[in-house]
Amino acid sequence: MKKIVLVKYILSFALIVTSVAIKAQQNNLAYAVAWKQSAAEHVALYHQGFNIAKLQVEQAINDGNKQQKPLAIISDVDETLLLADSYWAYMIANGRDFFDDAVWDLWVKEDLFSASPGSLEFSEFCRINNIEMFYVTNRDQGEKTFEIAKQNLETAGFHDVDAEHLFVLRETSNKDIIQQGIMKDFQVVTVLGDNLNDFSRDYYLTDVEQRKSLAEKRSHLFGIEHIVFPNPTDGHWMRAIFGTSEPTATSPNRELLHEAASRDAWSMDE
Ligand SMILES: [Mg+2]
Repeated sequence: MKKIVLVKYILSFALIVTSVAIKAQQNNLAYAVAWKQSAAEHVALYHQGFNIAKLQVEQAINDGNKQQKPLAIISDVDETLLLADSYWAYMIANGRDFFDDAVWDLWVKEDLFSASPGSLEFSEFCRINNIEMFYVTNRDQGEKTFEIAKQNLETAGFHDVDAEHLFVLRETSNKDIIQQGIMKDFQVVTVLGDNLNDFSRDYYLTDVEQRKSLAEKRSHLFGIEHIVFPNPTDGHWMRAIFGTSEPTATSPNRELLHEAASRDAWSMDE
């Protein structure tokens, strides 16, 4: 009798281990996070973005006699200047496959961001050349959101993070009004972001094809007025698929993700 109980115990333990292993293997976020965490290409793309931004600034400085306003850069914060690697690693380590706002809010307060590759060097280049850097972010961690964002940027090593340069949008992800305000007083050389919404609200669409076709129409702006950094884990590209930027971890959403990934799939029989 005791032997049967022991076998049952071993079998149920093996089942749990197997299900945990399958769960880990099936995590929808794993590919994207593995790429962020380990791909040298991820590092290279950030350097590429900041190298292009530097070229644009150098060109604007050389065109000095054409300037009527002081030069400036507008940058998004999260996944552009600051990387949230240990948040995403936590999600994978704990079997989570969709962004979790509650975990995010706790993590942000821990002040564990790192500066993205090349961002501090670019920031220093701007400081030396008297180019103002404006930080425009959409975040909401309550009353202290501004202070937390300021602290995150300063801890990572960014300069001039004050009320004149840091804009924190708690109620909306629409950055157009703030950016237009900056553009009244400054000649903005280029805007940096990981989400096309960082450049224009026009990209705030819930249709994949419309969003892609708008990017095609504005292809002449990329690398010049708009410098894009890679982000496969979150952003408004997800809103185009799910109808919301932060879809919940449900079976229907996992189905939608699968549909998005398999759209236009090759049909072997045709
Ligand atoms: Mg961002």
